[in-house]
Amino acid sequence: MKKTKIIKNIIIDVDKCNGCRACEVICSSFHAMPKYSNNNPERSRIRVIHEPLRDVYVPIYAGEYAVAECAGRDKYIIDGKEYDECAFCRASCPSRDLFKEPDSGLPLKCDMCEGEDEPLCVKWCLAEALIYEEREVEIEEDEEAPDEIAIGLESLANKHGMEKVIDTIAQLSKTLKS
Ligand code: SF4
Ligand code: SF4
Repeated sequence: MKKTKIIKNIIIDVDKCNGCRACEVICSSFHAMPKYSNNNPERSRIRVIHEPLRDVYVPIYAGEYAVAECAGRDKYIIDGKEYDECAFCRASCPSRDLFKEPDSGLPLKCDMCEGEDEPLCVKWCLAEALIYEEREVEIEEDEEAPDEIAIGLESLANKHGMEKVIDTIAQLSKTLKS
C-alpha cells in the first residue's frame, strides 16, 4: 500500500559558504542535553570541512550510519583540485571519527531539527549557503527508514553484541519501573 512522505533536503551552495561555522554551533546547541546548554561542534550533525591549502569550505550534514567501511569511494574534483576519498562523505562509519557522539561513540545523524519549522542551520546561515527544500513522494508503507533509536541500537549491538544490549535494556527497564 502506498502513502505519501515529505522528503526534506538541504541544498548546499559551496560557493556561498564563508566557513563561519554558525551552523555547527546552533546544531550542537539544539541537540545538547539539556537543549541549548552547550555548543560543542563535535556533537554537531553538520560539519564544515576546510581544506586550508586549497581554501575551500564544504558544509556536510550527517547521513545514514554505515556499519562497515564502504568498498567504493568518491573522489571530488573542485576547481581542478582533487579531494580526499572520504572528505565529503555524509556517513558515520568505522573508518573515521566524524559524526560520532564524543562520549558514547554513537553515530550522529541529521534529524532536520525535529519539531522545528525549518532546520536551524539553514536559519542561522546568514550567507544563504544552506537552502531548505521539501518535496512530497509516494512510498510503500514498509519503506520507512529506521529511526535514530534503531540506528543507535544497531551500532551498540555491533560494538558490544546483541545479548549485552538486550540485557542492558532489561536492567534499565527494571530500574526505571522501581
Ligand atoms: S553557517 Fe553557512 S556560511 Fe557559516 S559555515 Fe555554515 S554553511 Fe558556511
Ligand atoms: S538540519 Fe538541524 S540536525 Fe540537521 S544539520 Fe542542520 S541543525 Fe543539525
